[in-house]
Amino acid sequence: MPAEVSSRSPRNLVCIAVAIIGTALLAAGLAVWGLRADAIEDVERDTGNLATIFAEQTGQSVSAFDSTLSVIEKRLVAIHQAAPERYAREIRSEDVFHLLADSVSRLPHADVIAVIGPNGHIANHSKGWPGPEIDISDREFFTAQKTANLGMYVGLPVVSRVSNERTLFFSRRIESAQGEFLGLVQIGIHIAYFEHIYRSISSLSDQSFLFLRGDGTILARYPDQKDRAGEKMPPQSLWYDLVARGGGFYRSPGYFDGGARFVAVRKVADYPLIIDVAASESASLASWRRRATMIAIGTFLTLVCVALLLRALAIQFRGLVRSQASIAERESKLGEKSRELARANLTIDAALNNMSQGLDMVDRDGRIVVCNERFQLMYDLPAELVRAGASLVDVLAYRRQHGSFDGDPERFVADLARRVLAGEQVQTRSQLADGRIINVVNEPMNGRGWVATHEDITERLRSEKRIARMARHDALTDLANRVLFRERLDDAFRRYGSTGQGYTLFIFDLDLFKAVNDSLGHPVGDALLKAVARRLQDEACPTDTVGRLSGDEFAILQHANRDQRGTAVALAERLLEVIGAPYDVDGHRVVIGISIGIAMAPHDGLDSENLMKNADLALYRAKDDGRNTYRFFEPEMDENLRARRGLEIDLCNALANDEFEAYYQSLIDIDTGATCVVEALIRWHHPVHGMIPPDRFIPLAEERSLITAIGHWMLRQACRDAMLWPAHIRGAVNLSPVQFRNSDLYEIVAGALEESGLAPERLELEITESVLLQKNARDLSILHRIKALGVSVVLDDFGTGYSSLSYLRMFPFDKIKIDKSFVREMPVRSDCAAIVCAITSLGRELDMVTTAEGVETEEQLELVRAAGCKLAQGFLISRPCPVSELKFTAARSKVPALSAAG
Ligand code: C2E
Ligand code: CA
Ligand code: CA
Repeated sequence: MPAEVSSRSPRNLVCIAVAIIGTALLAAGLAVWGLRADAIEDVERDTGNLATIFAEQTGQSVSAFDSTLSVIEKRLVAIHQAAPERYAREIRSEDVFHLLADSVSRLPHADVIAVIGPNGHIANHSKGWPGPEIDISDREFFTAQKTANLGMYVGLPVVSRVSNERTLFFSRRIESAQGEFLGLVQIGIHIAYFEHIYRSISSLSDQSFLFLRGDGTILARYPDQKDRAGEKMPPQSLWYDLVARGGGFYRSPGYFDGGARFVAVRKVADYPLIIDVAASESASLASWRRRATMIAIGTFLTLVCVALLLRALAIQFRGLVRSQASIAERESKLGEKSRELARANLTIDAALNNMSQGLDMVDRDGRIVVCNERFQLMYDLPAELVRAGASLVDVLAYRRQHGSFDGDPERFVADLARRVLAGEQVQTRSQLADGRIINVVNEPMNGRGWVATHEDITERLRSEKRIARMARHDALTDLANRVLFRERLDDAFRRYGSTGQGYTLFIFDLDLFKAVNDSLGHPVGDALLKAVARRLQDEACPTDTVGRLSGDEFAILQHANRDQRGTAVALAERLLEVIGAPYDVDGHRVVIGISIGIAMAPHDGLDSENLMKNADLALYRAKDDGRNTYRFFEPEMDENLRARRGLEIDLCNALANDEFEAYYQSLIDIDTGATCVVEALIRWHHPVHGMIPPDRFIPLAEERSLITAIGHWMLRQACRDAMLWPAHIRGAVNLSPVQFRNSDLYEIVAGALEESGLAPERLELEITESVLLQKNARDLSILHRIKALGVSVVLDDFGTGYSSLSYLRMFPFDKIKIDKSFVREMPVRSDCAAIVCAITSLGRELDMVTTAEGVETEEQLELVRAAGCKLAQGFLISRPCPVSELKFTAARSKVPALSAAG
């Protein structure tokens, strides 16, 4: 019987050993595999979040580029429609330069906006005017857009020939109504801009960022030692499937450098652009590898222990039948093995203590089995409190005393044990007295207790918070950006639904901010915006939201109290005063005003869309009414704007549709009564609204730079018509100050004279003092050149606006026209008569003839004659009429003779 026992028992022990080893290996394998899946899931989440944020940010920027490009494109197409033959010249004009410079100032990250002609030469760009001719016809995006209309197209990065920096160009094709290619308009963004965003929110280790076109072409990669821009994703890559599905996550074998990566792919909404955020596999799995190694070591050591134990048992068993002597020998061997075991324990200790997380293992009675040094340090626990067998309740009670735990330790541990022992994974988060935030994951151990890992996530939360903040705050001023501001408006809308509390929206921009930017430079402009933001924040209540919506456009959301309008007025007035106070920016004293538009909810609308629109309308009105003031929204503003927009659109086509006509009004010599000049006055025959007077559409045409083409048409028409009149009658044409910004004015005048054959001496050009107001040397030199041709230059509307006799000395005018408002007042105001006398006598001294305009009565005619005016114009003499009805009077007798046609 004993013999049988002794031969079977070791065999049983071997079977048990094999079973234990197999189970342990399997369990360890599963755990390692599970941890790997967790690690990959973490990377997927982290890269995915970052990629989503990038994609959203990029989407916002790109959509701003796109709408700017569309606006410019439409403007250029309208210019082409108005006068195709002049398009090539117009796109080089200073007007277009101002449009570009103005647009670029609204896009803080854009470097340059440029218009390219059909031959691939840069016609105009926002960095300076006039710019040198630069040929970019060899650029890939130019060839692509020339071949077909690709909508908004992002070209491969190139070194910009304007700024010499690596730049991405977003472009739109310009084409005529017939589809003829007229060139491109493009916005250049320095690649460094994308790198800057990347750097500011990079948080994963060994991570890279890729900005691609939907066709797989790489636009930018960061960080990158080797320039990958222009390379394409390999055709076999899973990437294409994910892009087709709208985004996802995959493992890339590292097509370019052989380093495997996990990659999150996100589409930029509405554009064929893709953002990839990748984390290297080696870095992503590093902590998993450390854990796997630990588990492997742990498993191996456990197995060694088991093996030793079994072996010991076997030996002990055999020892029953062995001699005392062999027992001594066994003991010495066993001693050696236990030293081995101690060494192995040390290895486990070292592994545990090198973990970056705190770890404690607790048995089902809530007693610590083991914990690492990190755990002890993390909570600053005394060593005796964390030795094996110590109670977790005591640990928590100690932490409570030191302010790093604020629950009831006993209840907490009981609750935790109940949940974990039921197989639930329990996560808790606690904030320590010094502000650190610790995330604790309690993992059940098959009903035997649990293992808790403690991770300090303070840094991670901070960087997540930073990312979230960046997405909702303006980087320059730290005010709410458009996204956050809209959210706050939406919140106010919801709150109104539940509490009925109204709210007021203020939108405002800085008057003449562009001038500061242009004259003192962007750094001063930025500093000024920051200073304005600080004052705004000081002025607003803590419950108000202050936002920067774009460029120099700010907004405030104010929660209303009982007197909503009164509080709004008070804030508006404070803003005018505070923002208008002088600034000291980098040693420059800057004074700037604001115009404010105000819309109140619920009175003027509720949803953010409507309210913003209405506040904008009020802002337009404030600007129209002379700036540095505020206006509340009124419903008519909406109608006015709509009517104005409609008129604007019709105006673009009026020239092409031949809807303009030149009317003419005679000026007589007061002494002889003879017609000596005929002034051309434009009329617009609108197909729906009938005849529209110039006062209503000239300002619109000036604003949209259509006046150049219209003015050119008038000039040619008047010159042609004047050729049909008696040779002593001169034609007068009005010029808009905007036409001066076009450097071709001299050529246009000379061209019109040459084309019609009209002698220069028979042409008069009427300009208003606003041309002189800017004291622009270039404008004056154009005037001098025109005068040198033999053309007369007339100062129109004298006596309105800034009128000052000093203007008369700025340029040798041939004539001064005294404004009709003066003439109207002359009979009732003696000072008017005195001023007119002063003007005529100074005029005489300077060899300038004085004309009185708006003469409607005989009395006025007598007065202006007595004041020394030589010529008169007005309804008393004749009303403006079509050329066919024009009549000229001869000296001293009224002869209704010559019609223009005759
Ligand atoms: P303006 O150059 O001062 O032209 C004189 C305006 O006074 C004309 O108005 C004329 O019809 C009006 N007028 C003449 N006599 C009398 C009078 O006795 N009583 C009154 N109450 N008004 C009189 P219109 O034609 O409506 O033109 C208004 C303005 O539009 C012009 O003022 C001029 O500044 C602008 N304008 C007209 N045609 C052109 C043009 O071809 N180019 C440009 N740039 N501006 C033009
Ligand atoms: Ca005039
Ligand atoms: Ca006038």
